[in-house]
Amino acid sequence: MSILVALDQGTTSSRAIVFTTDGRILASHAIEFRQHYPKPGWVEHDPEDILTTQVEALRRAVEMSGVDVRQITAIGITNQRETTLLWDKSTGRCVHNAIVWQCRRTAPYVERLVAQGMSDTIRQKTGLVPDAYFSGTKLAYLLDTLGLRPRARSGKLCFGTVDSFLAWNLVEGRPHVTDATNAARTMLFNLHTQQWDDELLSMLDIPREVLPEVVDTAQIIGNLRTEILGRPIPVAAMAGDQHASLFGQACFEPGMVKNTYGTGCFMLMNTGEVPVESNSGLITTMAWRLDGTPTYALEGSVFMGGATVQWLRDELGLISSAAESETLAQAVPDTAGVFLVPAFTGLGAPYWDMYSRGTIVGMTRGTGRAHIVRAALEAICYQSADLFSAMVADRGNRVPARLCVDGGASANGFMMQFQADILNVPVMRPVIMETTALGAALLAGLGAGVYASKEEAAAAVRADLTFHPAMAQCDRQAALEGWHRAVERSRGWAKPEGSPLQSAKAVP
Ligand code: ADP
Repeated sequence: MSILVALDQGTTSSRAIVFTTDGRILASHAIEFRQHYPKPGWVEHDPEDILTTQVEALRRAVEMSGVDVRQITAIGITNQRETTLLWDKSTGRCVHNAIVWQCRRTAPYVERLVAQGMSDTIRQKTGLVPDAYFSGTKLAYLLDTLGLRPRARSGKLCFGTVDSFLAWNLVEGRPHVTDATNAARTMLFNLHTQQWDDELLSMLDIPREVLPEVVDTAQIIGNLRTEILGRPIPVAAMAGDQHASLFGQACFEPGMVKNTYGTGCFMLMNTGEVPVESNSGLITTMAWRLDGTPTYALEGSVFMGGATVQWLRDELGLISSAAESETLAQAVPDTAGVFLVPAFTGLGAPYWDMYSRGTIVGMTRGTGRAHIVRAALEAICYQSADLFSAMVADRGNRVPARLCVDGGASANGFMMQFQADILNVPVMRPVIMETTALGAALLAGLGAGVYASKEEAAAAVRADLTFHPAMAQCDRQAALEGWHRAVERSRGWAKPEGSPLQSAKAVP
């Protein structure tokens, strides 16, 4: 029996999952690690924590699985995206904590780039909307504040996202590499040429010498260092988490789309071998790069996905567990005209209104907690439907045959049925909901030659439940119209900073 192992290095935990080549999970282990918040809006990880928890999770999962280490054919890495590390080439020591994707400290860099009129260039070359999330400004910040440009120029430092950092530390010979999906989140990588871009590098004064070599998503980059598991095992794939999940859902054809319902929701649509520019502020990114051939994707996210359910539980106390939201929502036939817009931190694509705020409309004396809970679950689906519509519009109005779903909140059957109803498209939930890890394992299998093609790997991806749309067209139209009216009510509520009308509490 041949075994594949996925390392899933996430924002709050490091996990390892041991898979059979037909996609069964033999064992899984996760270890949480500390988040550091040095200032409001700043987020860091200790690089040592990332490394030690990841190695320990790997060792424990392999031990729990009972497999002989010799059976492990390949290891795949998938990771939290955009988080930025910088280390010394000779000692391997990081010069600073990892700056986590959520960290807002480089917002002034982005404002400066926008003021310099760089938005169009960034958008056209990288597919990204300029934002502090992406690694480029975080790297520039480290070089600036630590005065490291001369050392960087002389080739003494290595920059990397978490995939690079793990490859450097876990793979024999310390390769300095990143895969194309991770490179595409730096704001320094040209999607069209598939290379680091000189104009983007000079925009942030980044010396080329610090950058990793960009490799395919599935290829052997070297062997796992022998002391970790006692044997040298090929590390054969690296992919950002959302890209691995798209692969783990077997969304291989243009137009195939997945949505992950976690704290936020991440929707990615495979758009094939040509990058598609969005008219609705979606991001153009990589799906993956195999045998040197790039496959592109459109990406959109919902800020408040499962987090809306957490809010119902923790702030309002309307439910005692996330799972209870489903029973409660089904206790009423509908929301009785109530709409909840969870714009707690503004609205993303396709609205891009940072001044929107959470709003509940349509309440009457008869409105009860079940209506509010139901409206909250429906809101997660409406927001996802807005992204879906934007993607469909960007691809010439071709409607996908289905939406593939995963993530913690996709366990909610009521929500998945409502999603199918409101999209008028079947929603398919797979047997293995750990699609990110599965994707990394399948990519590793592909990179190591366990599968001859991605189609062969896809045999490991099995549908569990399909939710078929069952809502009448007129009801769907009325529901969507109600939602969009509610969104209008939520817009432009918060006042820009410095305004006398600003409520300090309302603006995070
Ligand atoms: P992340 O990877 O972002 O931490 P997960 O995929 O683990 O997220 O999903 C956790 C989220 O899913 C939480 O926000 C939680 O509120 C939500 N969630 C979990 N179970 C349910 C459920 N049955 N119904 C609705 N939401 C749920």
